[in-house]
Amino acid sequence: SIILSIETSCDETAASVIKNGNEIISNEVVTQMMTHKKFGGVVPEVASRQHVEVMTQVIDEALKNANMKIDDIDAIAVTEGPGLIGALLVGVASAKALAFSHQKPLIPVHHIGGHIYANHLVKPLQFPLIALIVSGGHTELIYMKDHLDFEIIGETRDDAVGEAYDKVARTIGLPYPGGPEVDRLAQIGQDTLNFPRVWLEKGSYDFSFSGLKSAVINTLHNKKQKNEEIIKEDVATSFQNSVVEVLVGKTMSAVKEYDVDHLIVAGGVAANKGLRDALELETNKLGIELSIPPLNLCTDNAAMIGSIAHFLYEKKRFSDMKLNGKNSLDLEDFN
Ligand code: ATP
Ligand code: MG
Ligand code: FE
Repeated sequence: SIILSIETSCDETAASVIKNGNEIISNEVVTQMMTHKKFGGVVPEVASRQHVEVMTQVIDEALKNANMKIDDIDAIAVTEGPGLIGALLVGVASAKALAFSHQKPLIPVHHIGGHIYANHLVKPLQFPLIALIVSGGHTELIYMKDHLDFEIIGETRDDAVGEAYDKVARTIGLPYPGGPEVDRLAQIGQDTLNFPRVWLEKGSYDFSFSGLKSAVINTLHNKKQKNEEIIKEDVATSFQNSVVEVLVGKTMSAVKEYDVDHLIVAGGVAANKGLRDALELETNKLGIELSIPPLNLCTDNAAMIGSIAHFLYEKKRFSDMKLNGKNSLDLEDFN
């Protein structure tokens, strides 16, 4: 198949042409990061407006850079959810307009399914596998027996990892998005603060990061009151060690219990050096294969949407013109 895919779930306006689910013909992304930086986070209203401003141009570029016209395309795929509703609507409306006016099938895509399939663009997915999703809005462990077969075996009960990183960054005075900056400081600090590791009930693959976030805030508050020096690097290292230990511990337990030979990682926090190093070490020990996509495919993009859409196309999972964006959407209902 040749699929034109569109993604606007958060603050990236993206369009891509993907062949057979694994060949990137073109991949355009316009990020609004610099705009939202001023506000210290993504402002939904601002995001929608900026999507409207650049959407058509991004789609045109994707076709132009693929050297294709809309007639060369087999189907239009678009992120249906989850995400910011106003942002999603821009992509969905554009996809519907294209599908309707050119009589092409319309394929709705789950955003997290897309993040998982970013790996398929690098190397074909091999089943069974465990996927660790770590992004700004999601922290999930997913078991897959086959294409499009998603079983969520664990997820966060409060904050997503990326969200925790961004909040901790703010409390130590780092600019948005704080994740990469905390990661950088964590490389040079020391684990002096002994933050809690939150494992929840025995055997649970769920996560909780709000307690850790509060522990960081309380520790900083107490130090300020006692006029003790706050070493940002040590806060970063102590926080990151706690996050990575729990993420990697639970992921490796899942890999063993579900007896898989493949672990894939996806989402913006997959860029984290501490996490990557720890996962490499542990998967090497077990002799199982680890895949992490390059950074531009870890963060939001339309190529990943076009990849999963190929498999939905084969199953003729098409939508009519009633398609709407959804701020929440169940991945398990998607197979
Ligand atoms: P979702 O996919 O859940 O809707 P999103 O698409 O906004 O969320 P991503 O773009 O996948 O999220 O990831 C962005 C998040 O990744 C931010 O919270 C950012 O701070 C975090 N992040 C990026 N690089 C790093 C890093 N090196 N270490 C830790 N966190 C990082
Ligand atoms: Mg983003
Ligand atoms: Fe995302």
